[in-house]
Amino acid sequence: MLNAPVLTLNSGMVPIHICNVKEAVILQVLNKAEAIKVDEKYTIRSQFLSIPLPRVIMLFNFHKIPKKRVVYSRLNIIYRDDMRCQYCGNRFGMDKLTVDHVIPLSKWVMVPPEKRPENPNSWGNQVCACKTCNARKGNKLLSECGFTLVKKPVEPKYMPYLIITRDKADKYGWLEFLNYNVRIIEAITTDE
Ligand SMILES: [Zn+2]
Repeated sequence: MLNAPVLTLNSGMVPIHICNVKEAVILQVLNKAEAIKVDEKYTIRSQFLSIPLPRVIMLFNFHKIPKKRVVYSRLNIIYRDDMRCQYCGNRFGMDKLTVDHVIPLSKWVMVPPEKRPENPNSWGNQVCACKTCNARKGNKLLSECGFTLVKKPVEPKYMPYLIITRDKADKYGWLEFLNYNVRIIEAITTDE
């Protein structure tokens, strides 16, 4: 239970972090945070302390919203595309998704520079693709396989600081606090 996640808000009630119960309790004991939402069903007990299990805490002296550079990564490409295959347009669970080079590396030099982004490994040339579409596309160009993109891939200007699945937010009672700085994603579990 001490490892359960606790949503952490800054002093302006903006979600900035997820810590665990243990860390949250320490912050409360040190008077650096207060619990905004608790689960009365459980009590954290020690020799000196008996408090309800925190689910959401607010920091007293932290006003800032940490800035997050939009890091170029496989996962962020999948999140940018909202877990939607950019070829067939369907959404899938993480286990069914890959990141695909729109212009395959093997064909890169065949495409004139004005018709491609400057770098093959970049936001502009990588998209979220389901495993099926990725396999069907193989090393072909879009024009060779008849695929079209759901939307043109670009570098996102902004990415919310926290990415949380709706299931998790629901389970821990966080949803009402997640209006800002958070992207809620629908976790999709696909059956074979
Ligand atoms: Zn697909």
